[in-house]
Amino acid sequence: MATTSFSELERVNRIGSGTGGTVYKVLHRPTGRLYALKVIYGNHEDSVRLQMCREIEILRDVDNPNVVRCHDMFDHNGEIQVLLEFMDKGSLEGIHIPLEQPLSDLTRQVLSGLYYLHRRKIVHRDIKPSNLLINSRREVKIADFGVSRVLAQTMDPCNSSVGTIAYMSPERINTDLNHGQYDGYAGDIWSLGVSILEFYLGRFPFSVGRQGDWASLMCAICMSQPPEAPPSASREFREFIACCLQRDPARRWTAGQLLRHPFITQNSTDYGFKSS
Ligand code: ATP
Ligand code: MG
Repeated sequence: MATTSFSELERVNRIGSGTGGTVYKVLHRPTGRLYALKVIYGNHEDSVRLQMCREIEILRDVDNPNVVRCHDMFDHNGEIQVLLEFMDKGSLEGIHIPLEQPLSDLTRQVLSGLYYLHRRKIVHRDIKPSNLLINSRREVKIADFGVSRVLAQTMDPCNSSVGTIAYMSPERINTDLNHGQYDGYAGDIWSLGVSILEFYLGRFPFSVGRQGDWASLMCAICMSQPPEAPPSASREFREFIACCLQRDPARRWTAGQLLRHPFITQNSTDYGFKSS
C-alpha cells in the first residue's frame, strides 16, 4: 500500500516539535528527495489508529499548490508517521511583514489553499503561523490539516493537549456564544485573520500574550471587541481584517469572497503599473 518504503528514509535532523508530535527532515535515499516526517506521539488504541489511517487516506488525495502534500503514512509498531512535502524555509511563526504588498501575496496564497480545502469540505481547525510554511520559491502552504483534523476528533478545546486556543474563534472556545452551533469554515477564517494581523503587527494582536493561560486568552478572545488593523494601515487592509474578524461567524466572509477582496486584487503583481 505504501508507495515509499519506510526503511528507505534516513533522518537528517529534527526540525521541531509541537503538541501532536515531532517533525524530522528525512532523505529518501533511492531518489535523493527530501521530505518532512511527522511522528505522532502516543499509544493509540487500535480503533483510534484505524480512524487516523482512514482520514490520512482521504488526505492523500489533497493536491493543491498552497497545501503541503501528504505523501504517505506509516504505522510503525503502532507509532503513526506521516510523510510530508518538505518546506525548506520553515514556518511563518514570529515573522513580521509590515509591507502590505508582500503580505497581500502571502494572504492570497493561504486563501487559495483554504478555498481549495473548504470546497472539498475539509475544515482545517488549526490555522496559525506555525502551520503556514514557506519554501525558497516563496510559495506559502498550509500544513498539518491532516494531523490536526485527525487529532481534533479525540480532543476538545478545554483539554490542554489540543495546544493553544490563541487562534481559535470565539464561538469555538465558548460554544454558548453561537447556540452550540460551530461552523468550522468560518472558524478557519477567524484564525486566518488573527494570523495575518499578527504578521502585519509583528506581535499577537490581542491584549494578552499568545502563551497566556486559558482563562486570560478566553477573556480576551470571547469578551472583548475583535482586534483591528491600526489606522496607519490602508483602508483595504483594515476592511479585509474586519471581514475575517467578525464576532458573528455568519458575517465572516468566505475564502472565495476574500479572494475577491480589494486587499487581495489590488495588490496583485501588476499593482503599481495600473493608471489611476
Ligand atoms: P502544533 O503541534 O500545536 O501544531 P507546531 O505546528 O509548531 O505546533 P508541528 O506541527 O509538530 O508543531 O511542527 C513542528 C515544527 O516543524 C514547526 O516549526 C514546523 O514549522 C516544522 N514543520 C512541520 N511540517 C513541516 C514541513 N512539511 N516542512 C518543513 N518544516 C515543517
Ligand atoms: Mg504544526
